[in-house]
Amino acid sequence: MSEILIKNGKVILFKNNDVILDKKDILIENDTIIKIENKIDEKGEYYVIDAKNRIIMPGLINTHAHIPMSIFRETTEGYKLYDWLNKVIWPIEDKLTDEEVYYASMLSFIEMIATGTTCINDQYFFSKAIRKAAEDTRVRTVLTRTIQDIDGKDKMNERIKDFIELYETRNRNDSLITYTVAPHALYTCSGECLSEVAKLAEKYNLPVHVHFLESIDEIEDIKQKHGEEAIYVLKKYFNNVHTILAHCVKLDDKDIEILKGMDCGIAHNPVSNLRLGCKIADITKYLDNGINVALGTDGQGSGSNLDMIETMKIACLMQGGIHENEKRITAKDVIKMATINGAKLLKLDNEIGSIEIGKKADIIILDMEEKLDNITTLPNLNEISNIVYNINGRNVVTTIINGNILMEERKIKNLDLELVLNQCNKVVKEIKEALN
Ligand SMILES: [Zn+2]
Repeated sequence: MSEILIKNGKVILFKNNDVILDKKDILIENDTIIKIENKIDEKGEYYVIDAKNRIIMPGLINTHAHIPMSIFRETTEGYKLYDWLNKVIWPIEDKLTDEEVYYASMLSFIEMIATGTTCINDQYFFSKAIRKAAEDTRVRTVLTRTIQDIDGKDKMNERIKDFIELYETRNRNDSLITYTVAPHALYTCSGECLSEVAKLAEKYNLPVHVHFLESIDEIEDIKQKHGEEAIYVLKKYFNNVHTILAHCVKLDDKDIEILKGMDCGIAHNPVSNLRLGCKIADITKYLDNGINVALGTDGQGSGSNLDMIETMKIACLMQGGIHENEKRITAKDVIKMATINGAKLLKLDNEIGSIEIGKKADIIILDMEEKLDNITTLPNLNEISNIVYNINGRNVVTTIINGNILMEERKIKNLDLELVLNQCNKVVKEIKEALN
């Protein structure tokens, strides 16, 4: 039996809808949090982590990403979304190999561990290579095989076959990897394709994960393709399944009313939306209407990086750009969005998203000590605001997922960054050539 005792830290807890900080010790047995008390004696054979001057919080949950896209970091400058996909991303993705995707995924998983993300919701292909990287790193992953039929029915059938093969070959004893069914978007999927996807989601009882109303071009494209507005297409196919909607930048009041009545929530990707010039999603309004909103980074191609602490800050600030002097989301709201709301969106809130007895030990520890490295937080008058506005992923010193310590005192355990980087740099060379 392995037991970890985290002592002397201040813990972020959710109480009666509020976010509070309380000095507590935490005891983890195997993969589960079993005690949260003012003081836990060090009598047992515990592995002790001293968290004095540190903040302990639930691991961050990234609800929309494309894990292998680490290799596309900084290829988007100067492109609009459709041009970037058509001219840069899709032609290169066509030539990728399983091995390249494996190492690109390993790089992203190391980035997550190093910046405090303990769970990620992926949407990509080469899914077995990504699964191998998830298994090797032990980061909690929601996996899929993206489905679309913009290039014909045969391709769609291949993708569906791939997905079924991926899901049927899952390791049923590995609770760290779960699955969604993922149509890419309503503008890349025909009605037949969406109907096939909905059938799969119902058959396997899995959530659907789809890009939805990310940019203005999409609105007309969907109308032309399906003969009706996006929201009605969504409701027609996915009314009976839990749906994770990535982006939702372009929702109008009618869309919000309809979404309120559906079993769905939103993965908000502020950096990616700004980077691709897709404008700002009014998440203050969505939350006020009772729609669950969580946070994501999108792939590094458009999202730049997987730093969810940076994402929290930008999500909060952006709302000030569209709500003049009005009530808008706070640092506490955004901490919930990056943790418990994410867990709810991924249907994993019974297991993760908060530090509670009985939940899985997905925990990160932040260094907020009063020292020069943390000068941007001093004097530390409000730790919760400081987490959102004045630190970043590099302040995460320890990352624990499912009771495994994957990084301690900023040392990543059992993973070879140099090897991973060497492998990724080979692919990057090819990408650079393709861009020229
Ligand atoms: Zn995306």
